[in-house]
Amino acid sequence: EYKPKSILYLNGVTKSFDGFKAINNLSLDIRPGELRAIIGPNGAGKSTMMDIITGKTKPDEGEVKFKDLTDLTKHDEADIANLGIGRKFQKPTVIESLTVWENLELALSGRRGVWQTLFFKLADSDAERVASTLTLVGLEERKADYAQNLSHGQKQWLEIGMLIMQDPELLLIDEPAAGMTDYETLQTAKLLKDISQKHSVVVVEHDMDFIRALDTKVTVLHEGSVLAEGTLDVVSADPRVIEVYLGR
Ligand code: ADP
Ligand code: MG
Repeated sequence: EYKPKSILYLNGVTKSFDGFKAINNLSLDIRPGELRAIIGPNGAGKSTMMDIITGKTKPDEGEVKFKDLTDLTKHDEADIANLGIGRKFQKPTVIESLTVWENLELALSGRRGVWQTLFFKLADSDAERVASTLTLVGLEERKADYAQNLSHGQKQWLEIGMLIMQDPELLLIDEPAAGMTDYETLQTAKLLKDISQKHSVVVVEHDMDFIRALDTKVTVLHEGSVLAEGTLDVVSADPRVIEVYLGR
């Protein structure tokens, strides 16, 4: 079997909106199994970068490769999800009137709709997958609760669990800690570290306590390209990074 060098490779990617370069000659190389944090001020291009990777936006120029060989610019959003790239948006999309367990079941397959989820018993192997995901996201004790009764943080974890049920090779997560308590923020960092044992993860986040807890390589985006890359200690001591965050 082919072992890719990169799970995700961007080279010279550019995207303009009405002549404004939101993404400007962006390069990024994520290795299989890597957990990568992306930071950068508002407007740096973080969400646009995620949109380009997931096929929601087409770049004007540049390479976007999944596992070295797959050119993501030639695929649409649904294809890219099926290739094994899962994306978590900021706002949770769990179904409030289903239980935690049912939400995970529902995420297992597009073929099994809400009615099937409610009225048919899962195969044992599928039930085991739901159970192990419940443990992973720390919601075992809430499995019979309706999603509407979860805290904001717990809903985010459930949604991450729903993504895991689809077994993506690469997970893209946009600002998971937004609106979370300090405790939930640190738990989320721990969860993503656990997830990165089996999946590659790219996470965009502003919260520096979260980034510190992730304890992983950081990429700083600014004006649509990479300003600095390295450990949090190295990038946060970089004068150009300090300038961008404090110098205006
Ligand atoms: P971030 O997520 O880092 O805050 P974004 O990727 O959302 O940044 O935005 C980068 C820049 O591109 C911003 O200046 C934003 O206004 C602009 N932009 C993003 N999407 C669009 C769009 N669809 N049309 C016009 N401008 C856009
Ligand atoms: Mg954004």
